[in-house]
Amino acid sequence: MTKCPRCGKEVSSRPGTICPRCGLKVYEANEKIRCPEPNCKALVSKKLEYCPKCGCKLKNYNFSDFIKMARCKIDESLNQKE
Ligand SMILES: [Zn+2]
Ligand SMILES: [Zn+2]
Repeated sequence: MTKCPRCGKEVSSRPGTICPRCGLKVYEANEKIRCPEPNCKALVSKKLEYCPKCGCKLKNYNFSDFIKMARCKIDESLNQKE
C-alpha cells in the first residue's frame, strides 16, 4: 500500500493504480527515475527537476545532454586527428 500524494488516501502500490477518491494517477506521481549522475544514482521522483541529493538536473538529461556530450566527443576526436 502507498498513499495518494494528493488526497492522502491509502491506495494500492501496484503499477497502474488510480486513486479511487480523487482520481489521481498515483503510479505516475510515484514513478521514480535514477539520477543520471554516476556518483549519485539516487532514486528520485520523476516529477522533480533537480536531484535532491546531488542537485544535478534530471529533466531532458537523456536527450539533449546526451547529444551535447556526443558532440563534444566527436569534436575531440576530430581535433585529435588534425
Ligand atoms: Zn487521491
Ligand atoms: Zn543525484
